[in-house]
Amino acid sequence: MQAPAPRIEATRLYSDPNARELLRRMLTENVLLEPVIGGDGRVHYLLAEEVLGLEVDVKGWIGEMVEQAILRKASSRQVIMCPAHMRADPMVMVECLKCRSKTSVKRSLVEHTYCGYIGDDSRFDKNGTLQCPNCGRPIRAQNELRVSGVWYECQNCLSKTSTPRLVFVCKEGNHEFSTADLALVAIDAYSVNEKALVELRNTLLLDPELAAMLTGMGYEVSAPAKVQGQSGSVHSLDVYAKKDGETVALQVAVDTKPVDPSAVIAFFAKAFDIKPNRAVLVTIPAASEDAKRLETGYGVSLVEDFDGSGVVRKVKEVLEAATRSA
Ligand SMILES: [Zn+2]
Ligand SMILES: [Zn+2]
Ligand SMILES: [Zn+2]
Repeated sequence: MQAPAPRIEATRLYSDPNARELLRRMLTENVLLEPVIGGDGRVHYLLAEEVLGLEVDVKGWIGEMVEQAILRKASSRQVIMCPAHMRADPMVMVECLKCRSKTSVKRSLVEHTYCGYIGDDSRFDKNGTLQCPNCGRPIRAQNELRVSGVWYECQNCLSKTSTPRLVFVCKEGNHEFSTADLALVAIDAYSVNEKALVELRNTLLLDPELAAMLTGMGYEVSAPAKVQGQSGSVHSLDVYAKKDGETVALQVAVDTKPVDPSAVIAFFAKAFDIKPNRAVLVTIPAASEDAKRLETGYGVSLVEDFDGSGVVRKVKEVLEAATRSA
């Protein structure tokens, strides 16, 4: 049996408009949260910082989103960091194995594939242009030369090696660390979790569209809304709207299969307590037959839409028909 799409409650994550805006942009612009190394040597998620603001702990926010299965890790790389300061922007240098000088130059042995001449690469340099020192032909393409060996030559003690030691210099205090000391740290990119996608499209795109439509019809709209019922309990609704003493309660139910009666019953329980004039339950992709049988008995208007694209128009029709018949 296929698990239903997770129902994400209108939690703190959604009540924060910046968090909603960030997820909305990831969806509509189809982008990942990509890590970049900033001028401060730290890992940054620029889009998240831009939308959430610099004072927000972006990594903590991402962690919560991953825990809620709203975001997921899309890719991971291990990057070199200073073990003391966790900066990811060290300067890398070649160090002489003998005298530890950092003056080594790179040399390579190059063969001219046309004439077979082999020599030090510096010999191919003729006043800034490449030319074979043997046959005198100019070198125009990379594949005319074949590198047959590379080594590093210390300018201090003249010793040569093909396997030099690398040293890293941290920008924080210019201290050195070696390949043995360095820290390798995973930096990850994140995407919206497919499992949460349908639900997010509804919360982030559909609910605002419904709210805008109702506002256009002259309603005073809350979305998401917390409404106190006659019992005193507070219920959460996707959209709640008021106009001239007339009230509308709206809930969107999204599933991977036709929405079952439990969604109708749960919504009816809220509507029974809140007593709106109109209670509309939107079901995507459809309502199950059992759910439809409950519709009339519970006084809930069901709106079905396969992918959500026709929801705004259909809800508007339901409300206009109600106004005409009133
Ligand atoms: Zn450091
Ligand atoms: Zn040396
Ligand atoms: Zn040649």
